[in-house]
Amino acid sequence: MSMNNTPNNTDLHDLGVAELAARLAQREVSSVEVAQHFLKRIQQHEALGAFLAVDADVSLAQAKAADARLAAGERTPLLGVPLAHKDVFVTRDFPTTAGSRMLENYRSPFDATVVARLGVNPGGAGMVTLGKLNCDEFAMGSGNDNSAYKPVHNPWDVSRIPGGSSGGSAAAVAARLVPAATGTDTGGSIRQPASLTGITGIKPTYGRCSRYGMVAFASSLDQAGPMARSALDCALLLSSMAAPDPDRDSTSLDLPALDYASDLIAASAHKQGATPLKGLRIGLPKQFFGAGCSADVLQTVRAALADYEKLGATLVDVDLPLTELSIPVYYVIAPAEASSNLSRFDGVRYGHRAAHYSDLNDMYRKSRSEGFGDEAKRRIMIGAYVLSHGYYDAYYLKAQKIRRLIAQDFQKAFTQCNVIAGPVSPTVAWKIGEKSNDPVASYLADIYTLSSSLAGLPGMSVPAGFGEGGMPVGLQLIGNYFKEAQLLGAAHQYQLATDWHLRKPAGSQGVSV
Ligand code: GLN
Repeated sequence: MSMNNTPNNTDLHDLGVAELAARLAQREVSSVEVAQHFLKRIQQHEALGAFLAVDADVSLAQAKAADARLAAGERTPLLGVPLAHKDVFVTRDFPTTAGSRMLENYRSPFDATVVARLGVNPGGAGMVTLGKLNCDEFAMGSGNDNSAYKPVHNPWDVSRIPGGSSGGSAAAVAARLVPAATGTDTGGSIRQPASLTGITGIKPTYGRCSRYGMVAFASSLDQAGPMARSALDCALLLSSMAAPDPDRDSTSLDLPALDYASDLIAASAHKQGATPLKGLRIGLPKQFFGAGCSADVLQTVRAALADYEKLGATLVDVDLPLTELSIPVYYVIAPAEASSNLSRFDGVRYGHRAAHYSDLNDMYRKSRSEGFGDEAKRRIMIGAYVLSHGYYDAYYLKAQKIRRLIAQDFQKAFTQCNVIAGPVSPTVAWKIGEKSNDPVASYLADIYTLSSSLAGLPGMSVPAGFGEGGMPVGLQLIGNYFKEAQLLGAAHQYQLATDWHLRKPAGSQGVSV
């Protein structure tokens, strides 16, 4: 059979993960051809800034390995489909920088668990890695403007940020440079960029995916998750990503891998006028619908909720009274953990070392001054301060206590509803540079994602329409612990009834920056 006479090879990039997997399984197209197609697009859209590392030889060798498995008759759901990884997942075959000069040219001797579970190595799902995706330095940021290398541009309007910190992942999926990507979410970094670029992303329950091989930011919050165009595609990836890893991450949950996608596929027979979400109670926290949210975002989210009612869901009011405190609480706890995690970058064991220094202390000081960017330094200082003797009780301990109360409020809310909904971000994507000189302004934009992160709950962003400037708006769905399947199901039914997730930026045909 010739693989070269494939019809529609030119629009392979418009296919999602499930569709590409089906074509690969039918042997209508080879994994090498798919990889070549996307590599070319990545090159054509380099100006978006989404990728930090690409290596065609490595990717094509992986694609050949996938083709060999396909030729041998293997049919697994992701085999041969390409993806790219946020540059905080360590990879043997590509450099890993975490968006920082500190790790420039760093190569890990091993793959992160999530990378290995998805990859073409024996035992992996067989996905082909097309490269590493730009992100805010050590995943600290909301606009991908903290990357030490280059900013990422939003494919819907290249003068705007794509969100952060998984901005490269979001821009690459939205611009169809790759059908899916990994992201990490510590305080919103999967959901917020997904929302601002019109794609689907899910942050699972804390501990659902192994953190082994993720460059650590705030360990009690960090969580990996998939970003793709649809809930079904996210479900396909999550089924391979989420599994216990007891020997390598003691906080990984003792919950077996689940086939999240099968239920969605079984439910795909959606009929017009049917009410597949009958029985689903959606809680709307009044704190998520207040004056802090811009009118265009509120209107879009409310329209999406009206569609959920048509699908059979019931809307109920719930109360999350400590929502506002999630900002100070997060911005005490996350920097505290970051200051500890980043202490390993000392110029001795990892990454950058200053070229000239007088003694050991001078070497530490110069290496860290040169290697870290402004935001990382800011967080190290805040973290060291709130953990210091005399301030620990007033800030860190107090924040931990409020964190517990925030988690308890969610449990109270979940006695009235199954899922909580609201906006992801109070505005659409802002202009590049707009908040660069005002870190607090970008901290405040995290208001709707931080509380569920502090509670360790799963959350997702589902494309729900467009706001100011024709920019995408996401609907946030937050579930109770381990309820990823319920979230994905609620998103999938909405996506069967709407087409927001299928819209694509005009610029994706040829983005110029
Ligand atoms: N924007 C938040 C921060 O800067 C969240 C980042 C994240 O989830 N990695 O910390």
